[in-house]
Amino acid sequence: MIKFLPLGGADEIGASSFYLNINGTGILLDCGIHPRKKGFDALPKFDLIDNEPLDFVFISHAHQDHIGSLPFLIQRFPHVIIYATTQTKEIAGLVLHNAANILASEKDYENQFKIYTHEEVDLLIQSIREIEYEKGIEVKGLRHFSESKIKISFHDAGHILGAAAILIEYSGYRIFYTGDFNLSNQAIMKGANLKHIKHINTLILESTYASTDSAKISSWNSELERFTRSANHILNNGGSILIPVFALGKTQEILASIYLAMKKGKLTETNIFTGGIGRDISNLYDKNRYIVRRKNPDLVLKNIPQLNLFEIDDYNYFKKNNGVVLASSGMMLVGTPSFKLLDYWLGQKSFGIFGVGYFDPQTPGFTVMSSKKGDTVKLTEFGQQKKIMCHIERFYFPSHSKREELLSIVEETRADKVILIHGDHSAKDWLGFHLLDRFFFVKVHSAEIGREIMLS
Ligand SMILES: [Zn+2]
Repeated sequence: MIKFLPLGGADEIGASSFYLNINGTGILLDCGIHPRKKGFDALPKFDLIDNEPLDFVFISHAHQDHIGSLPFLIQRFPHVIIYATTQTKEIAGLVLHNAANILASEKDYENQFKIYTHEEVDLLIQSIREIEYEKGIEVKGLRHFSESKIKISFHDAGHILGAAAILIEYSGYRIFYTGDFNLSNQAIMKGANLKHIKHINTLILESTYASTDSAKISSWNSELERFTRSANHILNNGGSILIPVFALGKTQEILASIYLAMKKGKLTETNIFTGGIGRDISNLYDKNRYIVRRKNPDLVLKNIPQLNLFEIDDYNYFKKNNGVVLASSGMMLVGTPSFKLLDYWLGQKSFGIFGVGYFDPQTPGFTVMSSKKGDTVKLTEFGQQKKIMCHIERFYFPSHSKREELLSIVEETRADKVILIHGDHSAKDWLGFHLLDRFFFVKVHSAEIGREIMLS
């Protein structure tokens, strides 16, 4: 008996968590938190597995929407054994400590649940068992009903440092969970090579970019050309550019892209501003540069000249010392550095805001990126109307697979059954329609929180 039950991240991006019961062994694939929601709403629905066995958690990568609820899960199920790649474990230490700081400063959380401490994070991180890429291990839960063990293996998923797609095999039945994966190269990370994953019975497939027309997403290099043309125009006219980025992944990829473009003389030499946890994560990219598959292992991010964003109080500084500012969060969530800079930036005629990643439709970042110079925007429910004076431009430097690549993974793995996750309704509709159109033999499910699917 194998059953699948989504607890979160089924038809949206946030709080990814998927439960598998394999003949009595309980496995959670990821344990994320919703970046935009607050309190219990931000967590996966752990109640759904209160009466189920839970033995293991396999973490695909260290983005908050895949790992952020781990401390809450451990408070509730202290005995579970967590597996992740060495790199994910290292990054998890940084992001969960950072999240503990943020939680402690958000008082409304205290009314809902017990927030976790730095000591709890330390214990949790220590307990994570490391698994090497491509090396399979066997596991079996306490209430497992058969002699056959479950074999698991983690495979490089591209996306970010440490990211893995996870293969689970039990008695000849093969389940492949893509996590977040990218088949194309970025500036640092090489595209995932999953060609050896074949004969999959159930493919649990992320759908992030399925609703995005790939005509918008050209190659990293050609997008960088478009980026440098627009950036040069702003920088040469004395303006500064704000790029909202996720601290993990996008910061490092865009930093490397900007630096390499400057070195080649394609981008005007200018100041680069970074700061906070993004820098600590960059150090882990440096530390692992010969250990994981990298496009350019000799590139050391720490050696790229950077000014500390957090030392600048008066934003007029960016008029006198123009440059490119890489500030988290990527979706300009309220209270984050990129949101704090936003109000000032919108009022500056010669400045620019460049979007480079994914934007949840209900975030200030999405509102800004859907607008243009001259428009009036309201960034929060109780915020004031603000006229946009600066240049706004959207670029696509995706860390997720394009829609055609999502189709190709189904073809390559020869999956019998596909469960669509990690995408909004339009993304899953596009993917579902094209999967059924192209592969008539594939059974397609759209995951829904709380709706169980019997796999075998
Ligand atoms: Zn991710």
